[in-house]
Amino acid sequence: MISESEALQLILDAVSPRSLETVPLHAAVDRFIERDVISTVPIPAFDQSAMDGYALHAADCQRPLRLSGEQPAGLDLGLEVEPGCCVRIFTGAPLPLGADAVIMQEDVQRDGDLITCSETVELGENIRRAGVDLCVGQIMLRKGDQLTPARLALLASQGNDRIKAAKTPSVAILSTGDELVAPGAGPLAAGQIFNTNAVMLAAMLKRLGITQITTQHCADDLQATTACLAGLTAAHDAVILSGGVSVGDHDHVKPALQKLGMQPALWRVKVKPGKPFLFAKSDRSFVFGLPGNPVSSFVTFLLFVRPALLRMMGAANVEPRWLQVPVATELHNPGDRPHYLRGQINGGHFESSGLQQSHALMALGRATALLRMEPEQRLQPGEMADAWLLD
Ligand code: AMP
Ligand code: MG
Repeated sequence: MISESEALQLILDAVSPRSLETVPLHAAVDRFIERDVISTVPIPAFDQSAMDGYALHAADCQRPLRLSGEQPAGLDLGLEVEPGCCVRIFTGAPLPLGADAVIMQEDVQRDGDLITCSETVELGENIRRAGVDLCVGQIMLRKGDQLTPARLALLASQGNDRIKAAKTPSVAILSTGDELVAPGAGPLAAGQIFNTNAVMLAAMLKRLGITQITTQHCADDLQATTACLAGLTAAHDAVILSGGVSVGDHDHVKPALQKLGMQPALWRVKVKPGKPFLFAKSDRSFVFGLPGNPVSSFVTFLLFVRPALLRMMGAANVEPRWLQVPVATELHNPGDRPHYLRGQINGGHFESSGLQQSHALMALGRATALLRMEPEQRLQPGEMADAWLLD
């Protein structure tokens, strides 16, 4: 059986960023920039006042000053501060020629055009010099960086109103199982369950910024599974299956893929939950076969599908957010596979959120983190381990 890291590497080697599209800045949050961006406009763009006050020569602050003009934020009026004079100025306004400091309006007394400083002011005080935050020619963003709201503002500071980014993939979710009933289509007959994975997986896709999502259900039947897979792989960039990937008599995903000439590139991974995970490639699409148990679907989506989709969207970093935390109670992984325990971080300590079995949706619903335990690892209370923070 292949290890988790080998499986992820194989998947990441198979996928690549999709073709580019132009995206207006207002619609680009969470997308991934397609190239390094070099600054062309410094921040600040010009020498300016950091306060509402008076621009002056710092050396002049001990003597009465004559007010010789006013420079608001906006067009540079080209004013100059002569020795013995000052210019009324406001936050963000261009600094008049000759001024080397700004005194806050709270620190002066004004009598008509006569200004007396009640505090001293140092050379350069309350002045923002051009380029102190960002110079022209500096690398602002790296290819594959995610566009957070602050980074969008940074791009806007350069006058950009659009960016280029890899297109967001279209994804189909195919739920397999004779027992499944769509929520809302109940009541359930004996032996039936509501399909919980489709809504969970669609929500996880939305969290990645994926909006073109098709959901379909398929009976446990080889012909039906083959037909569904043929149709969905022809029309989507990725197909996420839930259920039917094990070796039971009613698990038809593998044989269906084989019938379509899509030999799985990997099947079964050394991880718990999620061992029967499967990955295959068609001409147009990638197929991710997730085990049907909800917790297995959830964990394998995070481990293998999420990074693949992020890479297709052009992300440089597909790593999750890990945090080293002490565990609250003794924990033991007696198995020979790494185990992702579901839990919560309370008071800085990880504690289990309930039943650690792959059908335990309630414990998953309570979880805010997954704790990774190595095979046969035992942790004593207070010992540190890696927790994957869920959002
Ligand atoms: P399978 O992987 O098809 O063998 O399914 C394993 C377990 O997950 C069974 O108990 C199924 O009933 C359950 N299961 C499969 N698909 C879903 C789904 N979409 N929603 C909720 N449970 C499911
Ligand atoms: Mg099934």
